[in-house]
Amino acid sequence: MKRTIINELLHQNEFGNKVLVKGWVRNRRGSKNVAFVALNDGSCINNIQIVVDFANLGEEVMEGINVGASLSVEGLLMESKGGGQRMEIIAEKITLLGPADPNKYPLQPKRHSLEFLREIAHLRFRTNTFGAITRIRHAMIFAVHNYFNDRGFYNIHTPIITASDAEGAGEMFQVTTMDLKNPILNEEGNVDYKQDFFGKKTNLTVSGQLEAELAALAMGRVYTFGPTFRAENSNTTRHLAEFWMIEPEVAFNELTDNMDLAEDMLKYVTQYALDNCMDDLQFLSKRLQEEEKGKKAEERSMELIAKLHSIVDNDFVRLTYTEAIDILRNSKPNKKKRFNYVIEGWGADLQSEHERYLVEKHFKKPVILIDYPAEIKAFYMRMNDDGKTVRAMDILFPGIGEIVGGSQREERLDVLMEKMAAMNIPEEEMWWFLDTRRFGSVPHSGFGLGFERLMLFVTGMGNIRDVIPFPRAPKQAEF
Ligand code: ATP
Ligand code: MN
Repeated sequence: MKRTIINELLHQNEFGNKVLVKGWVRNRRGSKNVAFVALNDGSCINNIQIVVDFANLGEEVMEGINVGASLSVEGLLMESKGGGQRMEIIAEKITLLGPADPNKYPLQPKRHSLEFLREIAHLRFRTNTFGAITRIRHAMIFAVHNYFNDRGFYNIHTPIITASDAEGAGEMFQVTTMDLKNPILNEEGNVDYKQDFFGKKTNLTVSGQLEAELAALAMGRVYTFGPTFRAENSNTTRHLAEFWMIEPEVAFNELTDNMDLAEDMLKYVTQYALDNCMDDLQFLSKRLQEEEKGKKAEERSMELIAKLHSIVDNDFVRLTYTEAIDILRNSKPNKKKRFNYVIEGWGADLQSEHERYLVEKHFKKPVILIDYPAEIKAFYMRMNDDGKTVRAMDILFPGIGEIVGGSQREERLDVLMEKMAAMNIPEEEMWWFLDTRRFGSVPHSGFGLGFERLMLFVTGMGNIRDVIPFPRAPKQAEF
């Protein structure tokens, strides 16, 4: 007999047929004559109820059927008489595939803390919360590829190992095959990277952007969606050492086109979640509301599904860095010195507390900030005519802070080289990047969207380590 996926079963309207399901026991309860087993196979948040009538199958059949055990069940699919579920399977044959010792299995049908679940990340897929997150994560990956594919973008695999450290996006992890106890030294007594595997010093990439630019300046519209690595020792709820980034790069796009693309894409993928993940979103919404029960009304977050709708339905606010600084300087928390970093004046780098003030308190909407001071942004961003700001764009989201960082790129060879010299970026190392400005250079723009930050937003989860299956963070590389 062919196995039916539980998600398909639960959408059926025909009853009385014999079915075969397989899955893991989420719960069992019962009485003297009958047992009810909740079975889940990962295909959806809901379980199928298995009814085990002892009169037909004997009480012994329940032996070993504990939470966490895997089962194969054949039986009749019937409309359910009890409340709580639309249908159930009246078991005719139950096979215990793999037992789970109830004294040792760490997951029980109760709420476990997210911290505890992080320690058992190998098993947390079996919880409702991580099942929901895993399905939503898949849907969002799919939505991203769909979005770009439908619009004529090409997906580019940019390298994971790179020799360029000009990005300045963050500290890098070095890649080497040298013996750390006995590295090969040159005449000056420094490590001789010419003898290393690649013949030069190499690292894990912090971004695929520079290579995506090369592709965009021939293919027109491209995007990367790959792993990126940052060795920052930032133990926050928004930073991982290994995360996935979506980086579109588009020839002939200027900053406004870039903002339009990012806003449209964020709305598309959010709508995709609403259209395709409603059961899981409803579960996560309830979960969040329960978690925040103890909080004061004004500290509670907006209901998850309403929040997602508000992103789709409202235009993002667009303003310049200079305007943002004025708002922040005159804000209550700044005047009362309640920010950890008080904004003194123009030129200050915005911290997450400032970003969140703008989004959550002042505008109560996503904000796109543009035209940042050149000094606090990367070398490749296009210089404005004022000579002091660059065509940068950061998108700030409620509850998250920065979700997107992007810019129009500097396409003028002379301006770019001047900037690199000022920032001590060696021209020899970047000859290939500069070549695109030497031959057929055009205005172009792109951005980086942190996939896990997007996941935080869509799921309403509070810690980035809970929206990736196996998080990598300082002192954390288990599993
Ligand atoms: P932040 O200021 O929040 O540390 P950043 O300015 O270093 O971010 P960018 O270099 O602009 O970030 O990277 C583009 C996007 O990648 C960010 O907008 C964010 O969504 C995501 N991102 C950056 N660093 C991390 C990280 N350590 N973990 C997860 N996502 C990240
Ligand atoms: Mn940034």
